[in-house]
Amino acid sequence: MTQVHDHGGGVRSLRVPIPDNPLGHTLVYVVDTDRGPVLVDTGWDDPASWDALADGLAACGTSPGEIHGVVITHHHPDHHGLSGAVREASGAWIAMHAADGAIVRRARSTNPDRWLTYMSAKLEAAGAPEEHLAPLRTGLPRSVPGLAPALPDREIVPGELLTLPGRRLRAIWTPGHTPGHVCLHLEEEHPARLPGHGRLFSGDHLLPGITPHIGLYEDPDDATVTDPLGDYLDSLERVGRLAPAEVLPAHQHAFTDAASRVRELLTHHEDRLTGLLSLLADPLTPWQLAERMEWNRPWEQIPYGSRNIAVSEAEAHLRRLVKLGRAEAVAGSEPVTYMAV
Ligand SMILES: [Zn+2]
Ligand SMILES: [Zn+2]
Repeated sequence: MTQVHDHGGGVRSLRVPIPDNPLGHTLVYVVDTDRGPVLVDTGWDDPASWDALADGLAACGTSPGEIHGVVITHHHPDHHGLSGAVREASGAWIAMHAADGAIVRRARSTNPDRWLTYMSAKLEAAGAPEEHLAPLRTGLPRSVPGLAPALPDREIVPGELLTLPGRRLRAIWTPGHTPGHVCLHLEEEHPARLPGHGRLFSGDHLLPGITPHIGLYEDPDDATVTDPLGDYLDSLERVGRLAPAEVLPAHQHAFTDAASRVRELLTHHEDRLTGLLSLLADPLTPWQLAERMEWNRPWEQIPYGSRNIAVSEAEAHLRRLVKLGRAEAVAGSEPVTYMAV
């Protein structure tokens, strides 16, 4: 039986499992509106997850066929995976920020070989060793392509209220974890009258016990040098200023005192950047920096795919340090190395 939690004021959460993932589940929120229930995120695209979603909705007295709309915090498959199936069952609209909508469109159209070429060039430029690159060149560890993610049919416009009959839900653009991540601010009094301003559906942006992955925004068609970590830190301050009475995240559990969680995360990242500067006393490629950074296990034990994610995170930190003027690229180095200034 799917675990359903009633948060009061016409908001419930369902635990939709993510198969073979330490996160365990996505919290899918069901928000009652005058036109029927609206979901905030939908969960992983898997038969067992679909059953959990349908069971949970039944426990709320509704069903996938009655969903009026789907609001997506960001395009990741543990959030957007079941959106297409919900739309098929109900005719619901799917709303997403344009930047993540563009990623979905690209995922549906980029051919896998182009993607492999792009990734191996990127990893080579980051200083990845030959043994890491070789499988990409032969096109080997290619994940089995799943069903194409659903194209959104509505755009979430930052700062605007979503059209949710009878509710006030405002989109807060919080790029960083993805370029089009949004939090949704339910601008209504907290049902238990907790102090603060409404409730915030925070997606993966603000979680009570874990920090979201911040890597580069991968785009084969765009050479813009972005600063995802800078975006993320700015976005954290933005949601801190909202001072919501309660945060309803997409993983783990609901919590209060958003401001102190924001401060914790800002301090965590500041400490991490300072720690990286001491590693950058010697010139390092992004790959070498990733090897020396602290992860949840020793580098030798990090599996292949997770190393790509780790290098992307190392590069996001380097971009931030360069932008702050605290590190710079060593002129003429190839692959490029970085040093503390
Ligand atoms: Zn995510
Ligand atoms: Zn997630």
